[in-house]
Amino acid sequence: MRILLVEDEDRIASFMASGLTAEGHAVERAGTAAQALGMSFAHEYDLILLDLMLPDGDGREVLQAVRARNSDVPVVVLTALGEIDDKVALLDLGADDYLVKPIAFAELAARVRAAARHGQQSARALSSGELELDTKTRIATCGERSVDLPSREFALLEYLMRHAGQVLTRQQILDAVWGFGFESASNIVDVYVGYLRRKLDEPGRPSVIETVRGAGYRVRA
Ligand code: CA
Repeated sequence: MRILLVEDEDRIASFMASGLTAEGHAVERAGTAAQALGMSFAHEYDLILLDLMLPDGDGREVLQAVRARNSDVPVVVLTALGEIDDKVALLDLGADDYLVKPIAFAELAARVRAAARHGQQSARALSSGELELDTKTRIATCGERSVDLPSREFALLEYLMRHAGQVLTRQQILDAVWGFGFESASNIVDVYVGYLRRKLDEPGRPSVIETVRGAGYRVRA
């Protein structure tokens, strides 16, 4: 696995990195929140190990920024004893797991394996009704049709499918798929929904993406 290790304490980071490398992982290190943000946006990781107390900021901000990008890379938070008073809040922010320092390597290795399994399950394939989406190959399948989606169409469909059954407003979709601050008067969401329908809908059958009048769009659960 390709692992991003965010930890400013060199002694701890070296210990973890050498152990994980010996287990066959490719480990890249970041020592600040800014570095962690840059690296997590520039590369695809299979796992992020994230210290909370960083010299230039709080690891929670890194976690939030990663999740705001719609990334579902597994994140395991590393904390000192007593540093997290609210574990639930941490998990709500999008951490998959956490480890309390001092970290025993066997425990770390076990969490890394668990996070990897979890990541594969949640990342690989999505399905709702007849619709299937392979998130690695970006191939969407609906009945007889199978199409390779360009990145924005894929991101849109993935977002709708991860929230299957839920009505999503155009603004929610814009924020999640195009990023915050995108011109909300734009009809770009409708245009892209149109692209997906043309590729995936079967003639004479209800569309894979339902229009909920006055509200937004929904993929059936
Ligand atoms: Ca630290």
